[in-house]
Amino acid sequence: MDTILVVNAGSSSVKFQVYSIEGEGILRRQLKGQMDGIGSRPRLRATGSTGNPLADRAYPIEAVPDVPAAMDIAGAWLRDELRIHPIAVGHRVVHGGPDYDRPIQVDHGVVTRLERFIALAPLHQPHNLAPIRSILANFPQLPQVACFDTAFHRTHSPVADHYAIPHQLYAEGVRRYGFHGLSYEYIAKTLPRVAPKIANGRVIVAHLGSGASMCALSAGRSVESTMGFTALDGLPMGTRPGQIDPGVVLYLISEKGMSASNIQNFLYRDCGLKGLSGVSNDMRELESSEDPRARLAIEYFNYRIGLNAGMLAAALQGLDAFVFTAGIGENSATIRAHVVGQLAWLGVTLDPALNSRNAQLISGSDSRIPVYVVPTDEELMIAQHTVSLLMKTASTNQRQERAS
Ligand code: ADP
Repeated sequence: MDTILVVNAGSSSVKFQVYSIEGEGILRRQLKGQMDGIGSRPRLRATGSTGNPLADRAYPIEAVPDVPAAMDIAGAWLRDELRIHPIAVGHRVVHGGPDYDRPIQVDHGVVTRLERFIALAPLHQPHNLAPIRSILANFPQLPQVACFDTAFHRTHSPVADHYAIPHQLYAEGVRRYGFHGLSYEYIAKTLPRVAPKIANGRVIVAHLGSGASMCALSAGRSVESTMGFTALDGLPMGTRPGQIDPGVVLYLISEKGMSASNIQNFLYRDCGLKGLSGVSNDMRELESSEDPRARLAIEYFNYRIGLNAGMLAAALQGLDAFVFTAGIGENSATIRAHVVGQLAWLGVTLDPALNSRNAQLISGSDSRIPVYVVPTDEELMIAQHTVSLLMKTASTNQRQERAS
């Protein structure tokens, strides 16, 4: 049976999933795994479609010094031990810059263009591109598709994607892009089934995971996001501060003598829930902590979600539904209850029993606006894009052959 490999590579881990193609557009997840601890304590773990363990192996640090090495080992394991030979690979690539508003099949030329956006996402883009380059070198015939976190937001109007800075910088690519686009696209595609009445309306989606953002959907299209030029903006996250006055950054430079790379590390790794609580970046640990700073961090998180919901409702000129998704949004009844509390001014109420069961519809029967919990699936989105691009390329080739 034909399979698709989906790859999501970060700085210290390569996550992968394999889908089988079971008929027109039907995909089934066969396995998921990851090589983490790259360059520190490498470990390959994988489970099958029912969660059955398939691998759990440690490697010496020198065997897996970087992402390409991790990709080589995971690829060899899939090929040699599981006899999986995917017909294409779909990659998550964080930044498509101003150029890409949809997934694209990659060749060396596309990789070179995507390298230009490394400066726009220095902590993600190089790692996303590394496995693409290594597969291009080792399996040049294997089709690869890049799926961008920014692409879904390319529908924003000029007023939503500008900063009030001189135009030259906008032309260079300094724009408000928005991220988590694959997650929002999945939700937008799922809403017509889950909630047909509101899928065409004005919806705020809160993607609350280690990274967190919110998106305003109008008739299934993104019109505004809390994230901007980088994935630092907007809501507070596990280790990122979210919206912060640029004056704070100037203060860190002038008063603390911090360099650009110190500040980069600080903003990506030491702030957010971790920095504010001094306890953890993990919401589960914060929820079970007695430390008052952990409580402050949670309150700050909820408060900022409420503020940003107001902003996005203004962008939409009203609101027809609110959707929670990702690790915290799908699993934390407490956070959802507090966020819904922040939305009380909009006439939103909660059904506590449904909320505590992580039900799909958690708003009260008297709520003016329905509130949903919809689990996201960015990897499935990537697999679907990869298959549909393959099919499109195949039918274009057929048409060209017939015409010649
Ligand atoms: P990412 O994919 O960005 O790494 P996830 O979407 O997996 O992140 O979300 C991770 C976050 O979800 C962590 O902060 C984790 O604590 C939180 N989380 C997961 N399960 C629960 C739960 N049952 N209660 C509260 N928070 C949870």
